[in-house]
Parts: sequence; structure tokens; C-alpha cells
Amino acid sequence: MPYDPTRYKTPTGNQLQCKGWIQEAALRMLLNNLDPEVAERPDDLIVYGGRGKAARNFEALDLIIKALKDLEDDESLLIQSGKPVGILRTHPDAPRVLISNSQLVPRWATWEHFEELEKKGLMMYGQMTAGSWIYIGSQGIVQGTYETYAAAADKDFRGTLKGTLNVTAGLGGMGGAQPLAITMNEGVALIAEVEEWRIDKRIETRYLDKKLTDIDAAIDLALEAKAAGQALSIGVLCNAVDLLQKLIDRKVVPDTLTDQTSAHDPLIGYIPNTLTVQQANVLREKNPEEYLRQSYAGMRLHVELLLKLQQMGAITFDYGNNIRARAQEAGLTNAFDFPGFVPAYIRPLFCEGKGPFRWAALSGDPADIAVTDEVIGALFPENRSLQRWLRLAKERIAFQGLPARICWLGQGEREKAGQAFNELVRTGRVKAPIVIGRDHLDTGSVASPNRETEAMLDGSDAVADWPLLNALVNTAGGASWVSLHHGGGVGMGYSIHAGMVIVADGTPEAAARLSRVLRNDPGMGVIRHADAGYDIARDQARQHRLDINDRLR
Ligand code: NAD
Repeated sequence: MPYDPTRYKTPTGNQLQCKGWIQEAALRMLLNNLDPEVAERPDDLIVYGGRGKAARNFEALDLIIKALKDLEDDESLLIQSGKPVGILRTHPDAPRVLISNSQLVPRWATWEHFEELEKKGLMMYGQMTAGSWIYIGSQGIVQGTYETYAAAADKDFRGTLKGTLNVTAGLGGMGGAQPLAITMNEGVALIAEVEEWRIDKRIETRYLDKKLTDIDAAIDLALEAKAAGQALSIGVLCNAVDLLQKLIDRKVVPDTLTDQTSAHDPLIGYIPNTLTVQQANVLREKNPEEYLRQSYAGMRLHVELLLKLQQMGAITFDYGNNIRARAQEAGLTNAFDFPGFVPAYIRPLFCEGKGPFRWAALSGDPADIAVTDEVIGALFPENRSLQRWLRLAKERIAFQGLPARICWLGQGEREKAGQAFNELVRTGRVKAPIVIGRDHLDTGSVASPNRETEAMLDGSDAVADWPLLNALVNTAGGASWVSLHHGGGVGMGYSIHAGMVIVADGTPEAAARLSRVLRNDPGMGVIRHADAGYDIARDQARQHRLDINDRLR
């Protein structure tokens, strides 16, 4: 069934369709996730990240919409892998929606078993913010990617990517942020993408500067821009493997090298170099076993080429799609010879409780985001990278769907921002409530040994108590909706993670909930990293009175 843009249009303005602003926020954010400007494939209810969906099927979507409109202020709607299964009596401070997506008992947690269940209509893959209704288009990941490349620039290139060649692949929902993040750091981005419409979409949304179809011409142009110190992004229509092979043949060594094809999902997400997109679509349906064989072989070759370029001098890192594990599964023993981006660049930020804080204006009015930008700028004048980000974001980010903004904020900062937004709503400086959320890729909300929790100081990479505690504490604190997912980012069996969203509706009750949730949520990250032995996190824990020893002394 195709997506119907009229029927599923996101409501805007300050008129309620539901019985309260929290239910209304959930409704608007669910529909916003599926807005064709936001979602990658709305006809399949796929928001981003391979097959990350917002609802199990259209029947479930219609039922969720109905349930949200019917939901009282002291009830909670239960979502089981994208399908509404019950409405239970809770209380006004409880989450209005509780979501569990793609959970499988560990021994059964494989793509094969998931697919059996999915075919029977019993399960849905929620990715991270697809099934938890807080995806805001590519902007959501732009700042995280910007922070990663900024950290790489600081660590390896004297603070800027000016005059550097940065090679990667994948211009999908998340990967589409790469070109903009690289040019915001003043570098040249050369990105392989097999689907032409994806390249076109990134150009339309101003994330990408140029489309080329000839690999040699794309490399030439990238080298010219690098020599001129020009910030430029080039999408080249080809398989990543073919671009890497060509770079090796021509002895062109990128300064940084990574990949954001959907390697976490070998059947739906990754296109092997032996198939065109059309052939891939046919083979996937006709003979999935053969598709998987070619997909794994392609990913193995892909990682071999990344390793080769690393040996030639490229600073190489995995960008969170689990391609190293896929290559290892295909028999490549040294697939993990390059690091993941979290231990390489992001962990120190996580230790300070910093992560992808985001918000959207439920009014639908971009002027409301301009007001919040001003407030954030004024709240944190000393944070120079935040100030630079806000300036660049205003200039260069095209909104998709409901106007939204993302900023990496840390312990203490998120709570301040939440309170300030609630004041904006209370005093009428914005036209409707603001919804605040975050990615599941955050400091205290995820266990993912090949990504967010790779190489933890104490070896606790696979301990998944933390995201469970995170979901529980956000439920106890009164988040507006809370989600617990499995398999996001890296695929079935590789991760457990939690999400939360909280609505600032201007009421004193919301102020109290915001204060609890926006202190506790990043606080979980500080506690998690302090427990693992990171000094920065231990200092933060003491400073913010989160340290259990301090408390009991
Ligand atoms: P997506 O499915 O929307 O896009 C993937 C893109 O890769 C598609 O455009 C596809 O055509 C292209 N592609 C597939 N195989 C290819 C190949 N061999 N060569 C060239 N292009 C190819 O996924 P997304 O949301 O962009 O996410 C991409 C990956 O990054 C996922 O695995 C996701 O889990 C991971 N991810 C990482 C982070 C992070 O912060 N590091 C965050 C989110 C997602």
C-alpha cells in the first residue's frame, strides 16, 4: 500500500487533535518520521537505516494514530515492534507511550530468525529513532558527524580539514550527513553511492554539492579541490568497492577513510559490487541465500580495500555500520585492524554526558527554531564549538519535515536547555510546545560492542544492563515516551539501546519532569563511564553529585 501524503500529513499549529500535548507530540513525531521529506521510503514505512521502520504495517500505523487520539492523560499506549497492543491505566507523570522494538531472546537474536518472524508479520526492525519516532532527517546525524570530523581534524590535522581528501560511501538517511559535515569542517568529501536518487536527494536538501557518474573524473575533481583548499562534496554514482579499487590503482591515498553503507543489514542494506541496484532488487526476492553470499563476499572485499588504503596511509575508521564484523563473519581475520569512531573520537565527549540532544517545533514554524537557537547561543556563550555549529547550522541546514535542531549537549547543559524551552512555551515566545529527544547513540543508553561501547576501559563492552536501566529510569522520571530497541545501527544480535522523548509544554508539571529526565538521562552515561574507570566521567560524576560514593559518604 502506498503512503498517502494527505491522510498522513503531520498536523502543525497549536490546535490539538489528541487529548493532551504529549499524545499530540507523539502523533506529530510519528507522522513526521514518515513525511516524504524526512523518511527514505515512506511507501514501505521505512524511515532510515536499511529497514528501520516507524510502524509494522499500515494497519498498525492507522491503529496507533487512532489510539493516540483516544489516549487519556493517565493512560499509556504499549507498542510491540511497531504494533499497538494495549492501552493501560498509569498516571499523568508516566510516559504516554512505551515502546519495545525488535527484541529477541539472545540465542535467537539473528537476522535469519528475525526475518522468519518479520515474514509472518510478527516483528519490525526499529533501528534507533525510526521506531521511536524522533528521527528528524539527516540533520539528526549532521552534528554527530560534524563532531567526529572536528575531533579527527583536532587530533590529526591541526584543527581543520582544509586541504584534506575524505573518502566514504553511502548517502542514505544517516550517511547523507557526511558531505555536509566534512565541508563544514572545510574539507573535500568524495562519496560513493549506488543509487542515483539518493545522490539527487542530498543535492536537493543542500547536503551535497556535486553529482558525478565517472569515477576518474570524480577523483580528479576531488584532488583539484583539495589542492585549492576548497571545501567541496562530490557524490559519485558507483559501488564503494569500485571507488576504493580505483583510488588504490591510481595510488591516491585519502586523508580520512570510512564507510556508511548499510552493512549492518546484509540483505536489505548492502549492495554488493557484483550486482547493479536493479539486479540486487531481483536477486534479493528470488534467491536471498545467493544474495547474502554475494553481499558478504562484497563486504569482505570492501574491508580488504579499506585495510589496504589504511596501510598506504589513510586514517581509517569504522563509522558504526558493523562492516568489520560482516567481513570477519566472511572469514577476514584482521577486519578489526582499524578502530571504530567512538573509541577513536567520541568517547571523551560521552564521559562528560555529551550526546545528540535534539528538539523539534511542534508548531511547524521555522521561526520557533530560530528563537530556540538564540536561547541556546545565549545559554552557553563559552562553548565555542557549539557557537560555530549553531552559526553553520542556521546557514546550511535545510529543515526536513517539522523544523528541528540538534546540538551535542552534556550533563547539566541538557537540563538547562529543557527548562529554557519550557519557559519559551509558557511565555508564548514560541507558538506551540517543543519536543525534546535524542538518538539512541548516546552516552548512557546503548550497549553495542562494535560501536558505542567498543573497547571500554574495563572490558564491559557487551554489558547491556546500562540501556535497560536507562529506559527504566526515564520511565520512572516521567519521559513522554520511552523505547527499548535491539539491533539498531549494527544489526541483530549486536546492540541493545534505549530512547526517550520529553515534551516541553510550558506547564509546571512539564518543568518538573524535564528537570528529572534531562538530569538523569545523560547522568546514566556519566555513571556508566565512571563505573568503567574513565577519569573525565568520575570528575563529572563528582561535580554533578551523581557519584554513589560521594552520596553515601
Ligand atoms: P540507509 O540504508 O538509509 O543508506 C545506506 C546507503 O548506502 C544507501 O543509499 C545505499 O544505496 C548505499 N549503499 C549500499 N551499499 C552500497 C555500496 N556497496 N556502495 C555504495 N553505496 C552503497 O542507511 P543510513 O541511515 O544512511 O545508515 C548507514 C549506516 O550507517 C547504517 O549501517 C547505520 O546503522 C550506520 N549508522 C551510523 C551512525 C553513526 O553515527 N556512526 C549513525 C546512524 C547510522
